[in-house]
Amino acid sequence: MSEREVQERPLPRPTRISAPFWRGAAEGKLLLQRCRRCGLFIYYPRPFCPRCLAEELEWHEASGRGRVYTYTVVRRAATPAFAAMVPYVLAIVELEEGPRLVTNIVGCRPEEVRVEMPVRATFERLSDEVGLVLFRPDGMETDSADPEGQQ
Ligand SMILES: [Zn+2]
Repeated sequence: MSEREVQERPLPRPTRISAPFWRGAAEGKLLLQRCRRCGLFIYYPRPFCPRCLAEELEWHEASGRGRVYTYTVVRRAATPAFAAMVPYVLAIVELEEGPRLVTNIVGCRPEEVRVEMPVRATFERLSDEVGLVLFRPDGMETDSADPEGQQ
């Protein structure tokens, strides 16, 4: 592939199961499935509970709060589609509700990210049906007082 070839950033393709998650993110909500039988919060979206195998799952809006479980700073894009984003932080965030998800940390310099750092969900709307769930530092200050709040 030529270096000059324009490559689109690959985007999520919602399925029947995952569509509510992606649509929720487009609307600024972090939605998680929850098992109606055992109460487990579930991510990624699935047709049944990975703990008790019940198929009775319902969607809940999560708090959006979590902590950085681990991360790395990407300084050289793996494909040309991500070249414009470097350097960026690829992280696993552990949500207050329990599940961990792969995401990006935004709203601060990559050097400022730390393991266990409190973070809060923020959203990148791509269409009516698809949004990305990203995270930014969650300080003690309120949203309106957070200078990093408008990423
Ligand atoms: Zn269950």
